[in-house]
Amino acid sequence: MIDLKKKEVWFVTGSQHLYGEETLLQVAEHSKTIAASLNDTDEIPVKIIFKPTVKSADEIYAVCMEANTTKDCIGIIAWMHTFSPAKMWIGGLKILNKPLLHFHTQFNRDIPWATIDMDFMNLNQSAHGDREFGFIMSRMRLNRKVVVGHWQDPESLGKINAWTRAACGWNDWQTAKFVRFGDNMRNVAVTEGDKVEAEIKFGYSVNTYGVGDLVKVVNETTDKQIDQLAEEYASSYTLMPSLLKGGEQHQSLREAAKIEIGLQAFLEAGNFKGFTDTFEDLNGLVQLPGISAQRLMAKGFGFAAEGDWKTAALVRAMKVIGSGLKGGNSFMEDYTYHFNPDNRMVLGSHMLEICESIADGKPSCEIHPLGIGGKADPVRLVFNSAPGPALNASIVDMGNRFRLLVNEVIAVAPMQMMPKLPVARVLWKPYPNMHTGCAAWILAGGAHHTCYSQNLTSEHLTDFAEMAGIELVMIDKDTQIPQFKNELRWNEMYYR
Ligand code: MN
Repeated sequence: MIDLKKKEVWFVTGSQHLYGEETLLQVAEHSKTIAASLNDTDEIPVKIIFKPTVKSADEIYAVCMEANTTKDCIGIIAWMHTFSPAKMWIGGLKILNKPLLHFHTQFNRDIPWATIDMDFMNLNQSAHGDREFGFIMSRMRLNRKVVVGHWQDPESLGKINAWTRAACGWNDWQTAKFVRFGDNMRNVAVTEGDKVEAEIKFGYSVNTYGVGDLVKVVNETTDKQIDQLAEEYASSYTLMPSLLKGGEQHQSLREAAKIEIGLQAFLEAGNFKGFTDTFEDLNGLVQLPGISAQRLMAKGFGFAAEGDWKTAALVRAMKVIGSGLKGGNSFMEDYTYHFNPDNRMVLGSHMLEICESIADGKPSCEIHPLGIGGKADPVRLVFNSAPGPALNASIVDMGNRFRLLVNEVIAVAPMQMMPKLPVARVLWKPYPNMHTGCAAWILAGGAHHTCYSQNLTSEHLTDFAEMAGIELVMIDKDTQIPQFKNELRWNEMYYR
């Protein structure tokens, strides 16, 4: 359900009429070459579209207006090959409502020492042309990403790729719809928030639907559909013996399949990109959705439990940003600690709902009682997750602003089997270390719910926060508590 190939980033080159026809033709040729090269870069997931050189305020305004109203255009890469007097850009930049990346590059990589003359100098002017452009964006207080480097340099391409992916996530949020079945888990604070402000700021809407509306769709599923999905479970996972056909709990597996079919039908019929539920409001549903939430996340839907719509939306965005990359993104909760001084770490999990996309190997499909909610035992996928670099991200509502909090972590392989733990789980060590990482997270008001990502970096989320115009707080290898506290205090002033 996530397809980034249709999306477009426009490559716009700025210049002016002063240079004359011959130079402008060369400028256009160079721009075409760079745009085509970016377009051919395998790792960049969208189309890079060359746009004719803009040379006047009218042309700049027109391309910005067109970008705004072109549905699949997710952003603009701007480059000043020559000098483009930046007062010409004010009108266009004032109305541009798509993300902008300022690519500070130069067509020629090397100075041709033996042949360099004034013609070369007049054609390769981005070193100063881009500074004029940078000034006006700073003067207008516009968020953007500045990427410096030659256009064939893998480092530049990596930065453009990260921004492009963030722009896909941002674009996906605009007019996105999320369902909240029931309300919040009673009395929980951090999962609350201002849904009106979120829609203004982020572009997505969150609306409630009665669980009864979902139950109606669940009950419309046919035996044939349930047969098919139960078979798919049997072929995709290692089923616990009691869940096998003929087993004493096989009916529970069919019940879980029925819920998954109904949930997916409900989401697709309403064109929803994600959902939340709560174990305190399941009237008419036989089980709390376990395997269905896990598998719907793997299909690309955003999800978070207990009415946590901010995390559900974040999970969806991060799945879009990471689409096609190795590794997964999942709803997550910091669950239990290992405080052994030689090897401190966090065990992340949830009651049930961890996305299959982060599973290491074939999950086992199991059924166990859930000590909460008073419903029938839910079916769930149980698995470990692979070691490697990862991160946790959380959006909290600080009352006067949203804060995106990111903690880089290193996931570790389980040291021992956990045969009695009936849920999917991940072990990780927060950066810079357990004590500082957790203290910083708590000082910043980070939620217990997060999106755990194996394939995004802090660069993706930094770009994403810039596009959203929200506060970003990073906890990484360099974090120190005294400076971190000051950063939070200074941000408090900035956002007041
Ligand atoms: Mn929870």
